[in-house]
Amino acid sequence: MNHIYGMTESDIKNYFVSIGEKPYRSTQIIEWLYRKNAKSFAEMTNIKKDLRPRLAEDLKFDDLELVRKQESKDGTIKFLFRLADMNLIETVLMTHDYGYSVCVTTEVGCNMGCQFCASGLKKKKRNLETYEIVLQILKVSELTGLRVSHIVVMGIGEPFDNYENVMKFLEIVNNPFGLEIGQRHMTVSTCGIVPKIYEYADFPLQVNLAISLHASNNKTRDILMPINKAYKIEELIEAIRYYIDKTNRRVTIEYILIENVNDSIAAANELADLLRGLNVYINLIPYNEVLENPYKRSPLENRQRFYDALKKRGLNVTLRREQGSDIDAACGQLRSKEMKKYE
Ligand code: SAH
Repeated sequence: MNHIYGMTESDIKNYFVSIGEKPYRSTQIIEWLYRKNAKSFAEMTNIKKDLRPRLAEDLKFDDLELVRKQESKDGTIKFLFRLADMNLIETVLMTHDYGYSVCVTTEVGCNMGCQFCASGLKKKKRNLETYEIVLQILKVSELTGLRVSHIVVMGIGEPFDNYENVMKFLEIVNNPFGLEIGQRHMTVSTCGIVPKIYEYADFPLQVNLAISLHASNNKTRDILMPINKAYKIEELIEAIRYYIDKTNRRVTIEYILIENVNDSIAAANELADLLRGLNVYINLIPYNEVLENPYKRSPLENRQRFYDALKKRGLNVTLRREQGSDIDAACGQLRSKEMKKYE
């Protein structure tokens, strides 16, 4: 049995060919699924009547169960969903002046072990299947009645540790007969799995890349992010350079500011040196404190000082306002609280 929400247009085409049907039916199916929100083949009136039971037998409609919904004062909504195997995942909807953006989860738990992150506290149980990632977008639209215009693959999990399923997901939500989310409206964020950055540079869709850098040297990054022991900061920068040369796209550098860890003026200057000459945009993010570790948010004056130092060096930088901190929107926080209740 195939999961219908996990099938790309070519998967559906191949399926039709395999049962001796015309492949053009794939676009009809995609329209039903993503434009008309059909929940069964019985509703698909332009599909031959005698074909519908066969489709229902071969292709499964899955669903996500809403466990909890938390709404922040700034309009950010966090959803906790239960998967068919009872695992819990989080999805976040953010409101921007340019539209609605959804942050999706790609794995149950995460193995990257970033010290500041609540998600890494629970080891990865499994990858999400493509359909489970697609369903997060569908459910959020369905529950809010909003049209999702942007996607960030920045929820729980390391997308490049579940590469195939995530790339399929991007292809499905981009399909012009379906959700048609623009390629440039989608961003995948990685902690720095270097070989996958090279591979992603060749991915046919023009989707964006964000790198969770969070440190300006190996010493600090080794402590914060164990992935740095496998791929040193210099190798990461080389991969970013390759990606930019290959795709001509600007890369977002994410840098969370943690008090007395990575927020000094010296660190800002070191970061400026590291990124010199690269077409990047630096997103400075206030750290969201979590109960499980001792790290503290860098005070506003330090954040401002860091920002000013980068600006002075001519870098493209923004000091991000935080969203949803009153609803535990920091990665993994809702899930880890909720899991405690369910365990
Ligand atoms: N694994 C991917 C995507 C998921 S994490 C990655 O590392 O990029 C999404 C972003 O949230 C990353 O930049 C991560 O470092 C950051 N993050 C994790 N915990 C955080 C916290 N408590 N406060 C602020 N940002 C956090």
